[in-house]
Amino acid sequence: MSSTIHAVQISKHGDSSVLAYVPVPKPTPKPDQVLVKVAYAGVNFIDTYQRSGLYPQTLPFIVGREGSGEIVEVGPEAKGDFKVGDRVAFMGPSSYAEYDAVSTLSLAKLPDAISLEQGAALLLQGLTAWSLVRQAYKVEKGDWVLIHAAAGGVGLLLCQMCKLLGANVIGTTSSEAKAQLAKANGADYVVDYSNGYDELVAKVNELTGNKGVHVVLDGVGASTFDVSLKVVRRLGTVISFGNASGAVPPVNIMRLAEKNIRLMRTTLFQYITTREEFDALSSELLGLVAEGKLQFAIHKVYPIQDVKQAHDDLEGRKTTGKLVLKL
Ligand code: NDP
Repeated sequence: MSSTIHAVQISKHGDSSVLAYVPVPKPTPKPDQVLVKVAYAGVNFIDTYQRSGLYPQTLPFIVGREGSGEIVEVGPEAKGDFKVGDRVAFMGPSSYAEYDAVSTLSLAKLPDAISLEQGAALLLQGLTAWSLVRQAYKVEKGDWVLIHAAAGGVGLLLCQMCKLLGANVIGTTSSEAKAQLAKANGADYVVDYSNGYDELVAKVNELTGNKGVHVVLDGVGASTFDVSLKVVRRLGTVISFGNASGAVPPVNIMRLAEKNIRLMRTTLFQYITTREEFDALSSELLGLVAEGKLQFAIHKVYPIQDVKQAHDDLEGRKTTGKLVLKL
């Protein structure tokens, strides 16, 4: 077998033009890893942060944080019931590649009903959304929840999950088409925030009797942070979990005292530091999928050679749901 494979590598930080599909050495799994022949890689916003340098990487660097495929080799110390031939979804670095050596910490066997294409769309956004509504803030029946970028990959899942948990869901999007999609996924009300936030503040006040929402789930970051603090209720919670519009600047904590606001900045990777934590969250997530309670909308499957287009589309707000690359 050839010792060279192809992968999307960057050798400097920058815009999508730095993404290059090039020959690289085939990875050798460590004793506690498995080698996966990657079928599809999931595209996530974090890939763009790592590419641009917002989250700096040691270079050169193979992009991608999740994928799906078939196990072709199992390290002698790999934990868990994994064998050659298993169809799996995984989270781990360097997934935009024909082969990836991955830890079993965040590796899941795919049930027959879930295709490899769907498998690459499941874990990172699905676990992020589920950890937000079950761990960061336990969404309860009757809560008012505001979800920014409600038609995005994480956003559509949050809409479905919050609805499932009995919440009243308000979403924000930048277009009518996206608003319709968010509604079809469980948002009760959707406000277009592309021309400012006055309409959003007025709508939240109208719907909640001027109290504000119980929780804001904010993956947009810099541009929405202020309005998130504005529309949350007294004793409410604001969770900032992403930087789609840029990183939130440093915050003066005195701003929270105005309403005794709980402010969190979460990352999925602090909710799944052990196999047990991963199993607990992922089995609930896969259970919801198996019961047909959660749909993963795939925006488009891009050939790996079109990776630049995929990043441009995601950063250009042209997409809804999940983007997937076919290796
Ligand atoms: P999305 O599919 O949600 O895409 C981002 C969306 O953000 C866009 O479609 C757009 O929706 C909205 N947006 C608002 N302003 C901008 C802007 N200036 N530039 C680009 N987009 C903008 O992406 P993902 O589902 O992959 O991720 C959503 C967020 O969740 C990201 O911030 C990501 O980093 C975060 N995330 C965090 C994780 C964690 O562990 N903390 C893990 C996974 C994701 P619209 O056009 O409707 O405004």
